[in-house]
Amino acid sequence: MKKFKIILVLFSILFTTSFYSQTDEEVIKEIYKQSLTNGKSYDWLNYLSNQIGSRLSGSLGAEKAVAWGKEELEILGLDKVWLQPVMVPKWVRGAKEYAYIESAPGKTSTVNICALGGSVATSPLGIKANVVEIQNFEELEVLGKENIEGKIVFYNRPMQADLIQTHEAYGGCVNQRYQGALEAMKYGAVGVIVRSINLRLDDFPHTGSMSYQDAPVESRIPSAAISTNDAELLSTMLELDKNVKFYFKQSCKQLKDVQSYNVIGEITGTEYPNEYMVVGGHLDSWDLGDGSHDDGAGVVQSMEVLRLLKEAGIKPKRSIRVVLFMNEENGLRGGRKYAEEAKQKGENHVFALESDSGGFTPRGFSFDCSDSAFNQILGWQPLFKPYLIHYFEKGGSGADVGPLKSDSNVLAGLRPDSQRYFDYHHASNDTFDAVNKRELELGAATMTSLMYLYDKYGVNPISTTRQLKD
Ligand SMILES: [Zn+2]
Repeated sequence: MKKFKIILVLFSILFTTSFYSQTDEEVIKEIYKQSLTNGKSYDWLNYLSNQIGSRLSGSLGAEKAVAWGKEELEILGLDKVWLQPVMVPKWVRGAKEYAYIESAPGKTSTVNICALGGSVATSPLGIKANVVEIQNFEELEVLGKENIEGKIVFYNRPMQADLIQTHEAYGGCVNQRYQGALEAMKYGAVGVIVRSINLRLDDFPHTGSMSYQDAPVESRIPSAAISTNDAELLSTMLELDKNVKFYFKQSCKQLKDVQSYNVIGEITGTEYPNEYMVVGGHLDSWDLGDGSHDDGAGVVQSMEVLRLLKEAGIKPKRSIRVVLFMNEENGLRGGRKYAEEAKQKGENHVFALESDSGGFTPRGFSFDCSDSAFNQILGWQPLFKPYLIHYFEKGGSGADVGPLKSDSNVLAGLRPDSQRYFDYHHASNDTFDAVNKRELELGAATMTSLMYLYDKYGVNPISTTRQLKD
């Protein structure tokens, strides 16, 4: 009997240490295999998208998603799972918006339109006015109040199609959406419509946040996006006849802030429990689709990272947390709150990885860190080559993990192929069917592999801080 016990103990030691005798190549191969053959990310996304649906901050969907996220993380048997309270803005769309172009009295063509997040409503009867089409804010100044007052300003600068990184093209357009109303208000415009930030010509209007900053409430004008096809149509009609009128009606509203939560789960580190590594995405989404790419994909991939690590029997040296951030889309309150509390508690966040660029085929990562840290990370790049992951570049990370930035830590963002992302971004077609199972799973495995390597090797600044502290 005693002999049997000894054999059993030996066997269990062998079993639990087998992972440590594996090469990095072997561990990573197993991670990809598990994700592709036994993954949970796609099932989770199916539930989040099809059973819960859209999750705008302060909505019932967001509340359900918080409860679901907590429950699923508890099932994984992590060391800790908890909710971090955060107050979030609550904006509601109200009745479906309606718009048309009027080329002559009674002669109208309807337009696909949606209010921008944070916008005020039109009057209950809507707004009808002449249109001034422009490409940028400088044109407002050139035209002056005399040409803009009483009119609807139409921002029609398209995404730059020759940029390979479509996020860069997005960056080149988004000021029209975010502060277009604020700028046009100064010249007496009565409303603003924006060409949807979409590289494709189609009929989907794309929402997204906008801001009046601290402009007086009575001066605020309604702001909405129209589809790229409708933007092209309106532009052509204006070319033919400057007196074409535009009508739109929307009944959206900004309500009082409400209580919500970040959902957090942790595997506590075995050697350096006070060094934290975060992986996350944002649990909230816009309200038009169900936010499958933005950012349901990032949420389930981040959850899958901890599940795959556990499945592989990896016991991380550092504490690894999954954070499902609330309110990235219209406030970033969750990301800010997480960083604020981490700072208050003196938690040393050495690494944070975000997935918030859609569930498409992963290409690599973008790293926000020092040159020396980046050079060490580049040493891991060959391990990703068999999975066609080649993009390791310095650059931004993600909006939610951004507030965790310090002089010594490393922030990273998963960089999937971005060519189709803006076909779906913030639009009603961002739904479960737009996400490919294998592409999603490859992303989860890629993230897990990086977390594994970072935990195992760290980068130099970490050991420096540890030595200083010790
Ligand atoms: Zn997002």
